[in-house]
Amino acid sequence: MEFSAALRQLIKVPQNVAIFSHRNPDGDAIGSSLAMRHYLEQHGHTVHVLFPSEYPEEFEALPGAADILIWDLQPEECKQVINKKNLFIFLDFNALERIDKMGDYVRDLPAQRILIDHHLYPDPIADHIFSEPEASSTCELVYRFMDGLGDRDKVNPNTVGKCLYTGLVTDTGSFRYATNPSVFRIAADLVERGTDDVGVQDMIFNSQKEKNLRLLGHCLSNRMEFLPEFKTALIWLSRKDYELFDIQRGDTEGIVNYLLTIKDVKIAAFIHNQPTVVKLSLRSKGNIDVQEICKKHFKGGGHKNASGAFSHDSLKATIDKFKSILPEYKDKIWANA
Ligand code: 5GP
Ligand code: MN
Repeated sequence: MEFSAALRQLIKVPQNVAIFSHRNPDGDAIGSSLAMRHYLEQHGHTVHVLFPSEYPEEFEALPGAADILIWDLQPEECKQVINKKNLFIFLDFNALERIDKMGDYVRDLPAQRILIDHHLYPDPIADHIFSEPEASSTCELVYRFMDGLGDRDKVNPNTVGKCLYTGLVTDTGSFRYATNPSVFRIAADLVERGTDDVGVQDMIFNSQKEKNLRLLGHCLSNRMEFLPEFKTALIWLSRKDYELFDIQRGDTEGIVNYLLTIKDVKIAAFIHNQPTVVKLSLRSKGNIDVQEICKKHFKGGGHKNASGAFSHDSLKATIDKFKSILPEYKDKIWANA
């Protein structure tokens, strides 16, 4: 990472900072945002974290989570806070659409902007851009940001460390994909500093409600389709399923990954009728680029092996559309098979 003199100065002198992350915030969005907050506060900055929508319940255990402002719940309070800020930090997203109405609100406000992210194709929305699609997670980049500024001593195990470790774990599926040597070095350093790595894994994976396991069982037993011709597996959930299983924010997180555990599956799709919109989550193995599928056919995006999009068509129309585009990718799916 390269740091300009202007950026170093910006971090060294206390500012009024707003940290933003994306809709449906995941462990990396929350981890990187709260880690950055705890880091900047040690430099004397005044910091608020703002998300467009609520975060999954398990992350309530992260230090500072309770102070996060949610635009969907309190837009006026968010505006008042944002109006006082002179530095915006955009974490784990790279286009203002990803923060919805908050993006429109901040678009023309006079503040310096820093962007730290690992999604493909960033929009030029910041003065200082740290965009590395090869990075495992935004948390990896936030660690390298702190390290590059000579501040490893500010990586406290119970605040910055715990939050960063959360993003490393969630964005790599517990160090199973999107890894690189730097992730393991960072994880080792965090643990060496005293971060409770087992505690973080427990917070994320051993904190489910009974109903979530029953929902998973329902998805695998009753809602899964396997299309061997396209090495593709799919799980769908209807609006009725949402009512039946009382599905709340975060309850469907991770379900799509179970499809990848089938040996012959190269593409996994989770298509669910959320209360207002149909959401697609695509995952892939190896060379199959689901980011391209999401972007080209559904105006979504993300990473090569993990991408998402929204559809305003019906659930059935969206599933049919997804199935209808698979022949386009058949050769690629069967290459090196
Ligand atoms: P998920 O399927 O878990 O919601 O998201 C997988 C990845 O795709 C995440 O990195 C997420 O940020 C990105 N993503 C999800 N939905 C969208 C979307 O509608 N648009 C874009 N550009 N990216 C998305
Ligand atoms: Mn991420």
